[in-house]
Amino acid sequence: MEFQEFNFHPVIAAGIKEAGYTTPTPIQQQSIPTVMQGRDVMGLAQTGTGKTAAFVLPILNRLIDSPGGHVRALVVAPTRELAEQIHESFVTLGKSTRLKSVTVYGGVNINPQIQTLINGVDIVVACPGRLLDHISQGSINLSHLEVLVLDEADQMFDMGFLPDIRKILAQIPAKRQTLLFSATMPPSINKLASDILDNPVTVQIGNTAPPVTVSHALYPVEQHLKTPLLLELLKHTDTESVLIFTRTKHRAKRLGEQLEKACYKAASLQGNLSQNRRQAALDGFRDGTFQILVATDIAARGIDVSQISHVINYDIPDTPEAYVHRIGRTGRAAKAGDAFTMVCGDDTAMVRTIEKKLGAQLERRTVEGFDYTVPAPKKDAEFARPPREPRPQRKPAAAKKSAESSINPFKIDHAANRPSGKPHNGRPLPAGGSPKAVFNSSRRGK
Ligand code: AMP
Repeated sequence: MEFQEFNFHPVIAAGIKEAGYTTPTPIQQQSIPTVMQGRDVMGLAQTGTGKTAAFVLPILNRLIDSPGGHVRALVVAPTRELAEQIHESFVTLGKSTRLKSVTVYGGVNINPQIQTLINGVDIVVACPGRLLDHISQGSINLSHLEVLVLDEADQMFDMGFLPDIRKILAQIPAKRQTLLFSATMPPSINKLASDILDNPVTVQIGNTAPPVTVSHALYPVEQHLKTPLLLELLKHTDTESVLIFTRTKHRAKRLGEQLEKACYKAASLQGNLSQNRRQAALDGFRDGTFQILVATDIAARGIDVSQISHVINYDIPDTPEAYVHRIGRTGRAAKAGDAFTMVCGDDTAMVRTIEKKLGAQLERRTVEGFDYTVPAPKKDAEFARPPREPRPQRKPAAAKKSAESSINPFKIDHAANRPSGKPHNGRPLPAGGSPKAVFNSSRRGK
């Protein structure tokens, strides 16, 4: 199928060409004709499938003939970064149209948003909280709204936005086209869909399987050795751009700092940052200023950065869906990518669940030359690096026992991985240092 078959307005067709799209992705093939007919759509698709253009293109096509300064399309998204990305898609694909799009989200001054809204816009891409602020203070008029898109609905639910969404729904015309996109379909979203969609067409793409181009591997390790192992992995892996996931904001911040200290161009993206700093981190990651971005699930949701060569789960995600979602950031558009997951003994059940979902056993890898037996420091065991010189006295046998007892489910023989020379305490070796760590399992050639 070709884009010409949709019969887009020539100006939109030019935008598609300018964006470099030649063939519609499966979700675009399935949803664009339906959206262009004016039908409601329930789209089950994760980020990376081209779902944004699947609604952006038909909306531009619908509004193009009468740019008039009334808000006729509203897209609601969970995070500011996703809102910016959607807005950019409207700008790029609608470059030669006279349609105006604006983003509306918190964490930045509201006044410029009010001024832009007063000047007149056709499309608003908003996060729920700030949109409600504008609605309550009368700075946005939604009475001409024709199309509503709720993007990443499951994430909005996870973030507690559902009551806000219901409030927004009460303020917009009942006669409208509604498009609801979600990576998963928990009961709450099913209920929302049945409440707000009118005889919808359901479109489902790739929300159960990760990209086939991704090669997955598990790295069993004890919690306190995660950072040294990560540094070792980074040192010996040919990476372009690495997205690392942590379980909490605090861990993202701290790991970002540790990577910076280790001289990596790294930034962290987490909810405690000001909007300017979040955007700077994201822009820097996109343009290559930062080679590594450390993020939480929520901060990274929906983020579209091409060229991610590696996704590393510093902490295993809480659900198999989140695993698929995270690693969907690499191996995009038929590019190969690697997904590494660090796993502790406590993660055994989740590993099994993920493997069940993927329908395959994930390869367990160890890094040769890495000392897996270094005991946890007394304080701050979760993150602390192994102690510096002089090395503390330790009893190798006892340490090995404790290390193995917690990672036993993965049956790694750590002794086999220790080089015959001295252990290096798990710290990254100086450049050219010895022993040189090599992966003891076959890796996809680059
Ligand atoms: P999304 O799933 O909307 O986040 O899109 C993922 C990436 O795919 C974005 O970088 C889009 O610009 C890109 N994309 C969307 N549609 C196409 C297409 N038909 N051909 C090539 N790339 C596309």
